[in-house]
Order: sequence, then C-alpha cells, then structure tokens
Amino acid sequence: MGIIMDGKKVAEKTYEDLEVRINKLKENNIIPMLAVVIVGNDEASQVYVRNKAKMCEKLQIGSKVIECEENISEKELEKIIKDLNNDQNIHGILIQAPLPKHLDSLKIFDIVSKEKDVDGFNIYNVGALSLNKEGFIPCTVKGIIKILEYYNINVTSKNIVIIGRSNIVGKPLANYLINHNATVTVCHSKTSNLSDITKQADILISATGTANLVKKDYVKKGAVVIDVGINRNNNKLCGDVNFEEVSEIASHITPVPGGVGPMTIAMLMENVLEAAEMQRK
Ligand code: NAD
Repeated sequence: MGIIMDGKKVAEKTYEDLEVRINKLKENNIIPMLAVVIVGNDEASQVYVRNKAKMCEKLQIGSKVIECEENISEKELEKIIKDLNNDQNIHGILIQAPLPKHLDSLKIFDIVSKEKDVDGFNIYNVGALSLNKEGFIPCTVKGIIKILEYYNINVTSKNIVIIGRSNIVGKPLANYLINHNATVTVCHSKTSNLSDITKQADILISATGTANLVKKDYVKKGAVVIDVGINRNNNKLCGDVNFEEVSEIASHITPVPGGVGPMTIAMLMENVLEAAEMQRK
C-alpha cells in the first residue's frame, strides 16, 4: 500500500506558518481581508463560500460576503467589483464560480484588479503564470504543489500526466510544472487511448469530475497519484481515482476527501495574506 498524502495535515502546517504572518500584519494594524462575491443560490457554491468565511474567522482574517441576485446585470456586478477594487480595507477578491450563464465569467474575473485577484483567474495572472513571472497562482494548483513538496516529491525531469484541461486546474497546473522542468502531457475528454498515456506517468494528476475514471490499469507501479476530482457516488464523496485499487500500486496517493480539497482553501488563505503583505508595501 502506498503512502497516503494527508492534505489535512499539510493544511494544518500551512495554517501554523500563516499565523505568524497574520500576527505580523496585525502588529502593523493591518487585518487581511477577503471579499467573496456570490451570484445566485447554487447550493454547492453557498457551502463553499460558508467554508471559506469560516476558515477566515478561524485564522482571524476578515471576510465579507456580497450576495447578488441570480439575474444581476453585468453592469451592476462590474460596479460591485470595482468598488471592492477601490476599497483599501479589502486585500483579496474572489468571485465564486460558476456564474449564471448570462454573465461572461472571463470578463467578470478580469474586472478584479490583478493585485487582489487571489484566485489567479484574471488574464494578467494567467499570463504571469504562463510566463513564469510573479503573480497569483490558482489555489488548487498551489495546493497540489505544496503537497508534493511536503512529501519531498521533486517534479524536475519527471513525466507528469494531467487528466483535465480546465482553466482553473489542468492548464495552470501544466504551465507551473513545465516552468519547473517537468515533462508534461495534458489529456482530456477527447484524448484517445487514455490509459496508454497515463501508464507512462511518474506523477499522475486527475482533475476531471468523473468518478472511478482512474483504475489500476491506468497507473504505472510506483507512480505518485494526485486526485483532484470531487464527485458524489451514492451520496458518498469520492475522487476520480479508484482509491482501493490504485493505492495498492501507487507509491503515494491523495485521498478524497482529505487530500487536495483542504489544501485549496489553505492556499486561498495564503494568497489573501500575500495580497495584504504586497499592498502594505
Ligand atoms: P471542468 O469540468 O472544467 O474540466 C474537466 C476536465 O476533465 C475537462 O478538460 C474534460 O475534458 C476532462 N474530462 C472529463 N471527463 C473526462 C474523461 N472521462 N476522460 C478524460 N478527460 C475527461 O472541471 P474542473 O473545474 O477542472 O474540475 C475538475 C474536478 O476537480 C471536479 O470534480 C471538481 O469538483 C474538482 N475540483 C476540486 C478542487 C479541490 O479543491 N479539490 C478544486 C477545483 C476542482
């Protein structure tokens, strides 16, 4: 059985480090502050937003949730975001996805000023990551990297296969890893012979939202397997990976829940702190 990479433990360690930084800011009378904008009543989004606010409270980071009607116009939403951009007490802004269909998500994300874009979704930060320049890195990507670092897994010269090419996970993760000297292959729903490719991976990362996609015969013996997926199977939370089978042959594996999920929220907190520290300068 492979080593189970414990995202909760790595997140707790991160919070300890963050506490020191939060106290330092407080000594300078700065309370880091996150604003979360949520549009409509999507149940899962409401839960995510509540969890983020709870974590802020626990760390004594300020948070403000702005709830908008489902049918808000682009203009009205733009005004809300611009006001947050101009509010000196707000250091980070997060627009909870998914947005209703009548809104152009990319355009909305891009209204957030690059200094407050703690999700790393606006075009500046996407570009900065791709060019290996300083900017905000999406929280899930950062969380995956932190887990690998914690378990001393070096990505240099490794064959890394990512399943999933979304703008929030697959693509930014590929950019990060290429910039850190990994050899990266990105697969997606139109990839043929998926398992032939995934079997080549030293590190296999699945971010698809398809339960039980990655089975034993998709994985090389001794590979590191990171499961980003969050799925519900008969009301039970599971990832993309068949944990029972794959944990038998992987050298390291993340569970769901308790793997990448806790790290994503920890990295959001870290990004809010980074934003507050940067804006202080
Ligand atoms: P998405 O729907 O935007 O993208 C899914 C990607 O997976 C697409 O590129 C698609 O081509 C690919 N894909 C889907 N089914 C496939 C299949 N059968 N074979 C090969 N490729 C396939 O999703 P997303 O926003 O990137 O999220 C992916 C999953 O990760 C979801 O389950 C989501 O809930 C989860 N997620 C988890 C965290 C976390 O913190 N743990 C954060 C973000 C997303």
